[in-house]
Amino acid sequence: MSDLSADGALIAANIETVKQRMAAACARVGRAPESVTLLPVTKTVLAERLRAAYAAGGLRQCGENKVQEAREKAEALADLDLSWSVIGHLQTNKAKYVARFADAFQALDSLKLAEALERRLEVEGRTLDVFIQVNTSGEESKFGLEPSAAPAFAQALAPFERLKVRGLMTLAIFSAEEAAVRACFRRLCAVQAEIREATPGAQVDELSMGMSGDFEWAIEEGATLVRVGQAIFGPRPLPDEHYWPGLGSKREKETP
Ligand SMILES: *Cc1c(COP(=O)(O)O)cnc(C)c1O
Repeated sequence: MSDLSADGALIAANIETVKQRMAAACARVGRAPESVTLLPVTKTVLAERLRAAYAAGGLRQCGENKVQEAREKAEALADLDLSWSVIGHLQTNKAKYVARFADAFQALDSLKLAEALERRLEVEGRTLDVFIQVNTSGEESKFGLEPSAAPAFAQALAPFERLKVRGLMTLAIFSAEEAAVRACFRRLCAVQAEIREATPGAQVDELSMGMSGDFEWAIEEGATLVRVGQAIFGPRPLPDEHYWPGLGSKREKETP
C-alpha cells in the first residue's frame, strides 16, 4: 500500500469511528442514528488526500470554510461524486462561485447575500440548500444573526425561489465548559422553535451544530448535522483564527 492509500484508509476508518461515536450519542438520548448526518470538514486537507479517502470508500461530502479553497478542490476532484458544502462566511462578491459548484451554503446571515446568491443561481440554473447562521455564543468574532433576528430573517427568505432553506447553523462558544457549550446548542433549538411558531410550515428541520470537540454534546442537544474536521483528518496546520478572524482566545479544548 502506498502512503497515500494508507492515509485514505486511515481517514475512512476515522470517519467510521466518528460515526460510531455519533450513534452512541444518539443512543444516550433515545434518538435514531439515522437522524444525524456527518459532514466531514476538509479545510486545509490536500485534494490528493481527499481523493485517497474517497477511493477508500469513506468520503462523499466535503465541508469547506473558504470558498476559494473549496473551488480549487472541487475543480481538482470534479471527476469524483463528491458534494460540497461551504460552511464559512461569504463576501457578496464571491456569491457567484458558491452558486456554481456548491450544493449547500451554511453561513447565510444577510439579505444582501441572499439576493446575490439568488441572482447568481438564476444565471447558473441551479438551486442551493441554505442554512441560516445564528450567533448563539454572543462572541463578536463569530458571524451569524442575533437569535432575536432569526425569525424575521427566515420569513424574509421565503420569496427566494432558488434558496432552499434547510435549517439553522451555529458555532458554540470557544470554551472547555460543557454547560456553556451546551447552552449555545439549546439556544439554536429555541430559535428553531421560534421560527416554527412565527412561520408555521417553515422548513428549518436541520440543526447544524457540533464540531470535533463537541459533536456528542450537540447530538444530545438535538443536532441533525455535525461538522467534523480534525477528528477525521488530524490536527490542522493553521490556527482557527485564520478561519474566524478576530477570534481572541484560542479554543481551550483539545481535539484528538
Ligand atoms: C473548521 C470548522 C469546523 C470543524 O472544526 P473541527 O474542529 O476541525 O472539527 C466546523 N464548522 C466550521 C464552520 C468550521 O470552519
